[in-house]
Amino acid sequence: MTGERILLIEDEVAIADAVAARLRSVGFVVEMAGDGPEGLDRFDEFSPALVVLDLNLPGLDGLEVCRRIQAKAAEGVRSTPVVMLTARDDETDIVVGLGVGADDYLTKPFSPRELVARVQAVLRRVGEQVVGPDPSPRTLVGEVELELASRRAFRRGDEVHLTPTEFDLLARLVARGGAVLTRDQLLHQVWGYRDGSGPRTVDSHVRALRRKLGPDVIRTVHGVGYSVGDGKA
Ligand code: CA
Repeated sequence: MTGERILLIEDEVAIADAVAARLRSVGFVVEMAGDGPEGLDRFDEFSPALVVLDLNLPGLDGLEVCRRIQAKAAEGVRSTPVVMLTARDDETDIVVGLGVGADDYLTKPFSPRELVARVQAVLRRVGEQVVGPDPSPRTLVGEVELELASRRAFRRGDEVHLTPTEFDLLARLVARGGAVLTRDQLLHQVWGYRDGSGPRTVDSHVRALRRKLGPDVIRTVHGVGYSVGDGKA
């Protein structure tokens, strides 16, 4: 993954410098911005493979910057994963609950090494092709179609923008062909880690998928986890 471009939007200079140095030391090309509006400008100019985004920023906060990055993807600019930095665990819970479409979260203080590991995990996941039991180019789930190779989703023939994480979550469930995956299994397979606030991360992404693709695209198996829906409400 040498040479991949990372945009780091963080107003705390000490954190930004430490994170940028660590990312560069493993071969990433890093561009930095110190506030929200500057971050969005850099995003357009730099076309990063991934954005590391602080939540508490001057100008525009991280929530709004994340929404605007996702909106660009909806307009046809390619989808870019976001790793969001928050100041506290409870802040992370609130942001996850809002479902703004970040792909992973890290609470300060964190080690630059841990951030690099998360960035690499997200990029690996986004670069991976999830292969389902059906080798045809599009897999049908009720009125939703997934095109695995191009990572695109369609509802009744209309393309729907999914974040990289939303796509992965749905593709993992589709690959199981209706079998149930627990939240822990999904965390492990989609995010590549387990942690305490994790189950709510899964729930938040399931909510986002239902909002975008219809309530019956994913079935809740109470007390167990989730499976792909059968297309019937
Ligand atoms: Ca900040």
